[in-house]
Amino acid sequence: MAINLGDNAQEAAWRQEIRDFIKQEAPKELFDTEREEGGLFARMGAVKAWRDKVAAKGWIAPAWPKKYGGADMSVIEQFILNEEFAEQGVPSNVGGFGVMMIGPTLIEHGTEEQKEEHLSRILKGEVLWCQGYSEPGAGSDLAALQTRAVRDGDDYVLNGQKIWTTGAQFSDWMYMLARTDPDAPKHRGITYLLVDMKSPGVTVRPLTTLSGQQTFNEVFFEDVRVPAKNRVGEENRGWYVGTTTLDFERSSIGSAVGIRKQLESLIRQTEKGPATFKNNPQTRLEFADRWIEAEVGKMLSYRVISMQANGLIPNHEASMCKLFTSELQQRIANLSMHLFGMHGNVRNRSSMGYMQAVSSTIAGGTTEIQKGIMATRGLGLPRG
Ligand SMILES: Cc1cc2nc3c(=O)[nH]c(=O)nc-3n(C[C@H](O)[C@H](O)[C@H](O)COP(=O)(O)OP(=O)(O)OC[C@H]3O[C@@H](n4cnc5c(N)ncnc54)[C@H](O)[C@@H]3O)c2cc1C
Repeated sequence: MAINLGDNAQEAAWRQEIRDFIKQEAPKELFDTEREEGGLFARMGAVKAWRDKVAAKGWIAPAWPKKYGGADMSVIEQFILNEEFAEQGVPSNVGGFGVMMIGPTLIEHGTEEQKEEHLSRILKGEVLWCQGYSEPGAGSDLAALQTRAVRDGDDYVLNGQKIWTTGAQFSDWMYMLARTDPDAPKHRGITYLLVDMKSPGVTVRPLTTLSGQQTFNEVFFEDVRVPAKNRVGEENRGWYVGTTTLDFERSSIGSAVGIRKQLESLIRQTEKGPATFKNNPQTRLEFADRWIEAEVGKMLSYRVISMQANGLIPNHEASMCKLFTSELQQRIANLSMHLFGMHGNVRNRSSMGYMQAVSSTIAGGTTEIQKGIMATRGLGLPRG
């Protein structure tokens, strides 16, 4: 049976509206992909200009309810927006962690005062947020976290350390998890807090990655006072608030189109290269395999989106999608290095991409964790 995965008339009109907007409004420097160093952070000026235009259109938080400044878009409309932004090569998640994760979490669990204070500032792009979950001894086993928050009058006093905190050096606020009851079972003694990064006692130390970039950090807390009004949800119930945020992180599928664009760019480079590259049967086969896999990745993300559109919560399906696309990113990075041969050792876009791809199977839940989810929840196998 043939299945039509194309747009209906209404979806096609919506896609065209997005395309026209990008054509008219996107700053040229956004497409300056030669300046790969530092990724988006290095093109902050152009990204900011673009973000202002997207915000003026009301598209910065498409899935938020209108009463909080969102566009009340359906899952499919939002997907088309993200897909088209990726297709045209402009950043789709310009609101960062603020729009993607803390905003929706506050809409669900925040007090009116917290929504009032933060939501409109997130929408206007006035504040940047970072995520303080991982610690040196708590990554996959996040509930093992040890950063302590002790109640003292109207404040919590925070001591401890976070690690791998993406963008902390640029962030104004952090949403984070801290232990408030060390005697309770580990999932039950955790509280979700919002921390002003300018508070006395917060120290941010950038970490240099394998590729020489500084995208993430260590963050230290030394007697940092956090007003109790900055607690989201109840004390010791932060795990449940925190997993809401993770659900938003894991359902943000947008990389499938990005992967195909990366492949297209590699094909263009190969076409410009010497005939030994273009005509090499091994290279051609590798390209064909990667292209098919990119299409498979797209279908897997369509599956996740169609589940969401039908009110279902993707679980092992999202893990499959994450696992497949992150490993594919690494295979494409490998292909790129093969093309350059010994020149791949020179610091260039290919070698940078190769090194960056290493983290794709760690960030947002490692490959082993995704496989565990697929085995237990997808295949119904017993826990090992
Ligand atoms: C690019 C990048 C950006 C990140 N940004 C952030 C951020 O902004 N904020 C934040 O809080 N964190 C961030 N992280 C951290 C990320 O969430 C963790 O690195 C990840 O959850 C893995 O934790 P870990 O590094 O402690 O490794 P560990 O959990 O110590 O894992 C080590 C190894 O053991 C395996 N393993 C662990 N448990 C199991 C198990 N139960 N079964 C089988 N194998 C297992 C893992 O798969 C892995 O191979 C980022 C990471 C990366 C790479």
